[in-house]
Order: sequence, then structure tokens, then C-alpha cells
Amino acid sequence: MAEDNCTPLRVRFELRRRELRVAERIRLTPNMLRLILSGDLEGFQSLGFDDHVKLLFPDPQGGDTPVMRDYTPRAFDVSKGRLTLDFALHEPAGPATQWALQAKIGDLLHIGGPRGSQVWPDAFAHYVLVGDETALPAIGRRLEGAPAGQAITVLAMVENAAERQTWITRAKADFCWLYRAQANDVLGAIDALSLGADPLVWIAGEAQWARTVRAHLHDKGLNPKRIKASGYWLKGEPGAHQALD
Ligand SMILES: Cc1cc2nc3c(=O)[nH]c(=O)nc-3n(C[C@H](O)[C@H](O)[C@H](O)COP(=O)(O)OP(=O)(O)OC[C@H]3O[C@@H](n4cnc5c(N)ncnc54)[C@H](O)[C@@H]3O)c2cc1C
Repeated sequence: MAEDNCTPLRVRFELRRRELRVAERIRLTPNMLRLILSGDLEGFQSLGFDDHVKLLFPDPQGGDTPVMRDYTPRAFDVSKGRLTLDFALHEPAGPATQWALQAKIGDLLHIGGPRGSQVWPDAFAHYVLVGDETALPAIGRRLEGAPAGQAITVLAMVENAAERQTWITRAKADFCWLYRAQANDVLGAIDALSLGADPLVWIAGEAQWARTVRAHLHDKGLNPKRIKASGYWLKGEPGAHQALD
């Protein structure tokens, strides 16, 4: 594929703030809570599997600026006014996790965005998606939206086997589940993968972990222009995230 074909399409949207209410609560796994929100989604757009919305919570100090956290629109239906968010529950729980844990049917949530989408072309021979629990909503969305027969390898690091998820996909997908509780080694797992020629690699998870994975793929000679890595959270730093490329 020509080098310029691997540039993602970037699309900007008008930023809107919305008021949604909790309509359904579903425990997907012990540490993954799905909330389906309902409300006016007119004009809501999300074209990229790794888009995010901002969840807005009141400043606990009483200030005017809300506390914000990023979450993936896991699924949405504008005509029905429904938006699905999956919360990877963790300790220490910050405002997003605390809110999700306590959220009852009818509770209010303010969201903003997505401000834009980044859409990757579907033309690569092989896609590799590497992530922890916070990346699973994007990975699930990618798998569900993939064209028939697309080669996708998923490498997911979760706490234990109870955190595994299953997805319906038309892709030709391979899954490698790694468990933190068993000290599984992500770099060793990458070495055991058959990566094919020049795959597109997407990495998201704790920032240092994502950086280490990316560095290992660089060392293995993968094209840095085809690796997109994001720190979806930073250990010990509430509310932080980092684009690593
Ligand atoms: C583009 C993007 C999309 C994202 N999509 C999702 C999504 O769909 N679902 C989802 O669950 N998360 C997602 N995240 C990650 C989520 O925004 C962070 O985990 C966020 O910090 C959670 O906010 P909080 O208020 O619960 O905790 P914070 O107040 O931010 O953090 C409190 C403490 O918990 C730690 N911490 C934060 N997250 C985790 C974690 N996952 N595991 C262990 N410790 C953690 C922090 O280092 C801090 O010490 C996404 C992040 C980005 C940048």
C-alpha cells in the first residue's frame, strides 16, 4: 500500500453538551459495567472506533469548571436517543468510576463531544489491536464494524479470565488474552504473534505500558507510521491521558 494511504481521515464536529439519563445497567464482567444512556442525541456523530466523549462531573471543590473524563462511545443510536458506555471499574475509583458504580436508572449525566473522529482506512492487510480493559470498548466497536474477512489480531491484557469479553464480528479475528493476575508478559506474547507484512497497529491502555509495547514493536522493525499508541490513563495521575504519537 502507498505510504500516503495510511493517513487517517480526520473529521471535526460541532462540540455539543448533552444531558442524558441512565436507562439500563448491565454488568458485562465483574469489573466492566455497561450503562446505556438515553436522551436527545440529535446531531451526535462518531465515525471512528476510538472516538471519545467527555463525561462531565461537578467540581468537588464547588468551582465552575467540571471535572472531565474520556469514554468511548461503545454504541449509539441517534434515532432512539441511546448511547452505550462501558466503564472499566478500578481502584482507587475516580469520579467517573464512582459515579458509574452508584448510577441508578434515571440518574443524569452530562457529556460533551465527540469533538471529532479519526477514521482509519480499511485497506490494510492486517490490523493489530493491543489494549487493557479501558481499550476494550474501542476494540469491541472496531470488531463489530469491521468488514467481512478483515484480518484483525487482538491482544488484550485484563485482570483475569473472568474479564474476557466476546464480540460478534465478520472479521477474521484472532484473540490473545493475557492476565495481569498471572503476570502474563505482553512483550513475549507479541513475539509469539504472526504479525504479517506491515500491519496497522493500534495500542491503548496505561501510558507507560502502551509506551513499552510501542517501543517493542519499533525494535521489531515495524513501521512507526503504522503504529498508533495512546495512554488512556496514567498510573497515579487522576484524569490524565496521553497521545503517544
Ligand atoms: C480516548 C479515551 C477513551 C477512553 N475510553 C474508555 C472507556 O470506554 N472505558 C473506560 O473504562 N475507560 C476509558 N478510558 C480511560 C478513562 O478515561 C480513565 O481510566 C479515567 O482515568 C477514569 O476516570 P476515573 O474518574 O474513574 O479515575 P481517575 O480520577 O482518572 O483516576 C483515579 C486513580 O485511578 C487510576 N486509574 C485510572 N484509570 C484506571 C484503570 N483503568 N485501572 C486502574 N487504575 C486506573 C489513576 O491513575 C488514579 O490513580 C478512555 C480514555 C481515553 C483517553
